[in-house]
Amino acid sequence: MADLDALFFPKGIAIIGASAKPLTIGNRVMTNLLRYGYPHPVHPVHPKADEVLDRKAYPSILDVPDDIDLVHVIVRNSLVPKVLEDCAAKGVKVAIVNASGFRETGEEGAALERQIVELGHELGIRLFGPNCQGVMNSDPSVKLYSNFTFAQMNPGHVSIVAQGGGVAEVINNYFGMNGIGQRFYASNGNACDISIPEIIEYYGQDDQTHVIVLHVESFADPDEFLEKVAPVAAKKPVLALKSGSTPEGARAVSSHTGGLMAQDTTSDVLFDKCGVLRFASLAELCEAAAAFNGQPVPRGNRIGMVTNAGSPAIIVTDEAVKAGLKVPDLAPESKAFLADKLQSIASVANPIDMMATASGAEFSVSLQALMDDPGIDAAVICFMTPFFVDTAGIAQAIEAQVAKTDKTLIAVAMTNPDEKPEWRETVERVRAAGVPVYYFPEAAARVLTNMDRFRRLTERPRQAPPAIEADREAVARLLAEATPGPDGFLPPAVTSQALAAYGVPLAEERRAATRDEVLAAAEATGYPVVLKAEAPSLVHKSDAGGVALGLADADALGAAFDAMTDRLSGTADLAFLVQRQAAPGLEVIIGGAHAAGSQKMVMFGLGGVHVEVLKDVVFKLAPLSEPEATEMLSGLRSAALLDGVRGQPGVDKAALVDALVRVGRLLADHPAIAELDINPLLAYPPGAAPVAVDARIKIATD
Ligand code: ADP
Ligand code: MG
Repeated sequence: MADLDALFFPKGIAIIGASAKPLTIGNRVMTNLLRYGYPHPVHPVHPKADEVLDRKAYPSILDVPDDIDLVHVIVRNSLVPKVLEDCAAKGVKVAIVNASGFRETGEEGAALERQIVELGHELGIRLFGPNCQGVMNSDPSVKLYSNFTFAQMNPGHVSIVAQGGGVAEVINNYFGMNGIGQRFYASNGNACDISIPEIIEYYGQDDQTHVIVLHVESFADPDEFLEKVAPVAAKKPVLALKSGSTPEGARAVSSHTGGLMAQDTTSDVLFDKCGVLRFASLAELCEAAAAFNGQPVPRGNRIGMVTNAGSPAIIVTDEAVKAGLKVPDLAPESKAFLADKLQSIASVANPIDMMATASGAEFSVSLQALMDDPGIDAAVICFMTPFFVDTAGIAQAIEAQVAKTDKTLIAVAMTNPDEKPEWRETVERVRAAGVPVYYFPEAAARVLTNMDRFRRLTERPRQAPPAIEADREAVARLLAEATPGPDGFLPPAVTSQALAAYGVPLAEERRAATRDEVLAAAEATGYPVVLKAEAPSLVHKSDAGGVALGLADADALGAAFDAMTDRLSGTADLAFLVQRQAAPGLEVIIGGAHAAGSQKMVMFGLGGVHVEVLKDVVFKLAPLSEPEATEMLSGLRSAALLDGVRGQPGVDKAALVDALVRVGRLLADHPAIAELDINPLLAYPPGAAPVAVDARIKIATD
């Protein structure tokens, strides 16, 4: 368990490199600490000055009188090692190394960074940073502003951890401007020692943290991320923005699976496995955080609306419906109740449009109807503030409802709070009640869409991947002893053996070198057969004329063999595969690739020619549980094809789930496998087992 108390609740702080010069880091950190109200000793360390900001300064940390848990190190990079040694001698537990000139500057800096990491381990001192901002903690017992920024936090329940200082501050400012209280803040730059997953783990243990906002640029240790973040995300929302692309995603890859990975598939699968809600935009993340902070996650996706202006509610409706939310009709009882209580010109549908003159009492009635309606999970309250509107009444109606309901409330206040103090007060009252307030109507729809995404993420059944009976050691030996081709692909026979060992259903096959052997193989297999050419240089066999389908008898096979050998006469190490001809079915692809760290991912999609054209594929980290594999099937855009369309029968989905689970286990069990393609696997109607007719496995070469 991460014990970062010395970082977030230090009992004494020294600023090594404190400065009297305004607008320096050494000055800002100290000013912030003193102004925000840190209650324990703060001592400046300065080689020459007697005083900094009216506090006695000491030439070395060793001269500081009180116990010091935490230091800021704001000195030239080359001096950092010596400073750390002194800090350790003083009993310092954590050093925030604000100093830069490390990994971010190139190889020399990276070497220095490695040196301080090692030193930190030796000395028993934890390092935060380097090249970083610092931390904040709004807890009244510590009021810690150990950072050089200009944005003070208000106490609350959102905790931020960000690799990039700029992004962290943008998030921090948004929360400040929108009255959202915060708990912890950490921006740890190069994160050479105290890692982002460790900080998230710490936030996870903190009762006062209700929502975690994360920004990462790269996963230093994906395995650690998975191990530490998944348990936290199971307890509280972790909302993430990942910027920058992964080298894994950009790496040139030769298999189908590799080619179909988008830039950042690896981050997607990691977040997905952890249950972290990923955002594509910083604005959307911040908007959502405001709602997660004050409101329960809706129990379903049905939203109701109440408004004093028609068109903004229509905008919310359009956006919500486009995103897959429901804006259902209200229950007859709700409508009757509204017709009775509202003016006759009001529209008692959903959205409930009360007209511009609606009073606080009318807002109250409409909200009550939505909260009582069993067909509604969340309500959007839209209001403009024409001069005749009693906005305080609206705030009151919302406040009263918040106290009673466990449904989700989101407000859209299309007003300029700077115009009139009453309007500002209304907005502030609504926010203080825990209801997020947005200006644009679309924001409400976006926020509810993201909350619904979160609901589905957390409602996923959690199951362990099933045990697969496979001789893992034998397969490991098989993979280690095989001689891969020049591109790293295993000989086809070895690929088949590995898949068969994990119970992946394969077409019956026999390998042959000569015409006679081919004919004998077909005899043993039974007609009709398929003849395929195999050679290390043949990647796409049918493109090269190396696949002959539906050969009904020996004559047909012989002729196909002759034509094929003719066509491929110059091919080195040419050999042949005779397969039983499989019945027509739905062609799907199952793939595998390296994700990040020691993690592998499984891909599933429509196979055959469709795969390149439609690129309808989904990825998940291996190994797979059955619900995860099931989610992959339903995650396809063309998922309906699996269920059958227009009189076509569907396919045996349980059999596909089983095949996915088996491939996932194979990938997870064998680090040696870099990439895997089964294309196609032929899927059949319920009751008939699928069959893989073509597969390749690429072995990791580095
Ligand atoms: P490649 O992908 O190298 O071109 P495949 O072995 O995948 O070669 O064969 C190409 C296509 O031929 C497959 O997508 C499938 O439609 C069909 N096919 C291959 N083997 C069989 C088989 N045993 N039974 C039925 N159809 C097959
Ligand atoms: Mg193929």
